[in-house]
Amino acid sequence: MKSSIEVLKNVFGYTTFRPGQERVIEQVLKGRNVLAVMPTGAGKSMCYQIPALVNPGVTLVISPLISLMKDQIDSLKQNGINAAALNSATPQEEVNPILRQAYEGKIKLLYITPERLAMDYFRYQLNFLDISLVAVDEAHCISQWGHDFRPAYRQIMEGVKSIKSQPNILALTATATPSVQKDIADQLNIPAENYVITSFARPNLSFKVVDNPKNTNLYLLDYIKKHPNQSGIVYASTRKNVEELTDYLAQNGILTASYHAGLSNKERADVQDAFQFDKVQVIVATNAFGMGIDKRNVRFVIHANSTPNLESYYQEAGRAGRDGEPCEGILIYHPKDIRLYRWFIEQSDLDDEYQKIQYQKLAAITKYVNTTECLQQFIVRYFGQTCSPCGKCSNCLGTFIEKDITAESKKIISTIYELDGRFGKNVVADVVTGANNQRMREIRASNFKNYGSLKLGKRAALDLINYLISHNYLELTDTQYPVVHVTNLGWDVLDDKKQVSQKISKNIRKSIQLTN
Ligand code: ADP
Ligand code: ZN
Repeated sequence: MKSSIEVLKNVFGYTTFRPGQERVIEQVLKGRNVLAVMPTGAGKSMCYQIPALVNPGVTLVISPLISLMKDQIDSLKQNGINAAALNSATPQEEVNPILRQAYEGKIKLLYITPERLAMDYFRYQLNFLDISLVAVDEAHCISQWGHDFRPAYRQIMEGVKSIKSQPNILALTATATPSVQKDIADQLNIPAENYVITSFARPNLSFKVVDNPKNTNLYLLDYIKKHPNQSGIVYASTRKNVEELTDYLAQNGILTASYHAGLSNKERADVQDAFQFDKVQVIVATNAFGMGIDKRNVRFVIHANSTPNLESYYQEAGRAGRDGEPCEGILIYHPKDIRLYRWFIEQSDLDDEYQKIQYQKLAAITKYVNTTECLQQFIVRYFGQTCSPCGKCSNCLGTFIEKDITAESKKIISTIYELDGRFGKNVVADVVTGANNQRMREIRASNFKNYGSLKLGKRAALDLINYLISHNYLELTDTQYPVVHVTNLGWDVLDDKKQVSQKISKNIRKSIQLTN
C-alpha cells in the first residue's frame, strides 16, 4: 500500500501536509467516520483524494454543485487521476460506461449529487461497486442550522447504510458553528473524538468594515487604483448591482468582468479563465462566483453589499490569499442591505423555526459590522473557537470612535415601556419621533410623555431600534406581527446601570447622525 505522504509528493507534487490534513487522512484510512472542519483554502479536498488513491475500490464524493464537481474532476485529471461525475447533466448513455469503469477500478473518485444517492435505482447500482469511502463535501448543507440547507443531504445516511461494502464517512465543511457541527455528526454517526477542527483564524487575512461610505463606487475605484497590480473579487448582492459596478469600473479604466448566474456556461468559463490568467484584474460577481475557483493570489475580496450571514461572508472573504500571502477582506456596510434581507425573511414562506434561525444569522452579521472587538476574533468566536486579537483588522487598528448613545436608547426603551410592549418597530419609531399620521391619532400618541422626544428621522430611529435589537437591548417576539420587548439588558439601561455605545467610523460618514 502506498503511504499518504508518497501520494502527496508523487501525485500532487506537494512536500508537506497542511494543518489537519494528515490527521484526517490517518483516521479515514483506519476506517473511521470523521468530521473535518477547516477554513476555505485549507486543502479539504486532499483529505479524501489521498485516501481515494490509497484505498482499494472507489471513493464516492457527494457534492452540492455540478460546477464544483467539474472543476475538481478537471484538476484531478491534470494530476493524472481518473475521476467522473454522475449528475443531472450526465447524458443517459454515459451513465453505464462510467459505472462500468468504476467497477473495473479505472475510476477512483465518483462525484454525485445527494439527490442521486436518494434514488432507489442508483442505490441498487452501487451494490456492484466496491466503495471504500463516502466523502460528504459542504457537509453543513445537512443542517437546518447551517446557511445552505439542502433537504437531500438529510437522506445521505440512509443511502450510505444501503451500500453493501459499508464504507466509512468523511464529512467536510469550512463553515460550521458548534451546533451545526453537532448536527452533522449526529446525522452521520461521527463520534466526537473523530472531529478534526483546525483553527478558523486566517492569519494572512486582514478584515475591515467600511461603514456606509457616501459613495461606494468611488470607494471601490479608489481602493482598486491604489492596488494596481493585485487581483481581487468584488461581491455585490444582485445581478443589476454587479452589472452597474462593472460598467462603472470599466469606464474608469479598470480591467474587469462580471460573473453571475445569468451568464451562459461558456461566458462563465471565459470569465473564470480571464481571471485565472490575470487578463482581468477584478471580477465583480454575485455569490454564484467562487465555489471551485482556485486562484491562489487573490489579494482582496470586497463586499459592496453585506451577505445575509457571517458564514457566507467568511467563506467568500476566505477566497483571498490561498497562497498564504497578506490579503484583505473588506465589508462595505449599508444599513439598507440588512433591511432588505430582513424584508426577504419576513416575506418568505419559511417555517417559523427556520425563519427564526435566519433572523439570528442576520443579527450576527449586523453585530459583526458594529462590533468594536477584533474582527478576526469576533468571527472565530462565532464558530466556537478563540484566538488572540489579530493586530491588523480595522478594529485592532482603531479606525473608529465609540459614540455614547445611551440617551437616545433610553428614549426608545421608555417609549416601549409607555406603549406597554404592545406594538411593533414602526409604531415605536413613529411615536418616539413624533410622527403625525392616522395610526398616531388612533392611539392618541400625542398624549404620551415620550411622543416626539427623539429628534431623529424615522429611518434613523428604526436603524437605532434595529441596533438595539441586534445588541440584545430589545427583542422581537416571533409572532406573525413581531412586537418589540425590552430585555433585562434594556431595563438596565433605563435604570442607569448600563451605557449603550455604538462604533462610529472616524473617517467615514455614519448613517445614523445622532443629534444630542
Ligand atoms: P478547500 O476545499 O479547503 O477550500 P482546496 O481543497 O480547494 O481547499 O485546496 C486549496 C488549494 O490548496 C488547492 O490549490 C490545493 O491544491 C492546495 N493544497 C492542498 N493541500 C496542499 C498541501 N499540503 N500543500 C500545498 N498546497 C496544498
Ligand atoms: Zn483584529
